[in-house]
Amino acid sequence: MGTILKVEDINVYYGSIHAIKGISFQVEEGEVVTLIGANGAGKSTTLNTVSGLLRSKTGSIEFLGQNVSNVPCHKMTGRGLALVPEGRRVFLQMTVQENLEMGAFSQKGGTLSADLDKVYQLFPRLKERIKQTAGTLSGGEQQMLAMGRALMSHPKLLMLDEPSMGLAPILVEQIFEIIENLHKAGTTILLVEQNAQAALSVANRGYVLETGKIVTTGTGAELLASPEIKKAYLGG
Ligand code: ATP
Repeated sequence: MGTILKVEDINVYYGSIHAIKGISFQVEEGEVVTLIGANGAGKSTTLNTVSGLLRSKTGSIEFLGQNVSNVPCHKMTGRGLALVPEGRRVFLQMTVQENLEMGAFSQKGGTLSADLDKVYQLFPRLKERIKQTAGTLSGGEQQMLAMGRALMSHPKLLMLDEPSMGLAPILVEQIFEIIENLHKAGTTILLVEQNAQAALSVANRGYVLETGKIVTTGTGAELLASPEIKKAYLGG
C-alpha cells in the first residue's frame, strides 16, 4: 500500500478571500477518505485545487509520488485523477453510452467494451438507458452517469464532490452502496460530503473542515462516535 495523495500546507485564495488556510491531509491506496464540513468550509475548493483547477500559494500536492502542484487540470486525468464535480455536469445532449465513451478518451488500448460492461454492471439503471440522452435522466441517474464516466478513465484516485446533493433518501442510499462496492473492489476515493453521517459510515478516515482549516481528524468510526462531531454535524 502506498500513498496516493499527499497534500501539504496549501493556502488558496479567491482574490482577497482566504478560502483554504494551511491544510494538510493524505489518502492511502485503497482507502475511502472523506472531507466533511458545513457550507462554505472549503471542501470544493480543496478538490478543485487537487485537480489543478485552482492553485495554492504555498505547500505542495503530491500525486502518486510526484509533485503536481503546477500540473494543469486537463493533464491530471491522464495521470489517473478523476473528479466528479458538484452538480454532476454530464453532456446533456449526448446519450448515456456516448457520455461513458467520452470518459474513456484518455485510455489507450482496447478495453472500451469491457470497461462499459463493468460500469453497466455497477449501474444497472444506466444499462437500461443506454440510448437515452443524459438531459432526460433523473438527478440520481445523472450522478450515476457522472461516476460511471469517471470510472471509464481507470482512475488511481476518484474524487467525488457531494454525490448525494439534492437526491431523494433512497437514491442517497444507493449512491453510498455503490461507493462501498467501489471501495471493496479496491478503488481509492476522496469523498466530499455535507451528509456527514453517510460519508463517515463508508469512510476509513475523515477530516473535518471549518472555515478553511482542518479542525479534527480520525477514523470514520471515531468521528461518528465523537460527541462534538455528533453535536455539530450529525444532528444530535
Ligand atoms: P459547499 O458545501 O457549500 O459547496 P464548500 O465547503 O465546498 O461548501 P467552497 O465552495 O470550497 O466550500 O467555498 C469556500 C469559501 O470560498 C466560501 O467562503 C466561498 O464563499 C468562497 N468561494 C468559493 N468559490 C468562490 C469564488 N469563485 N469566488 C469567491 N469566493 C469563492
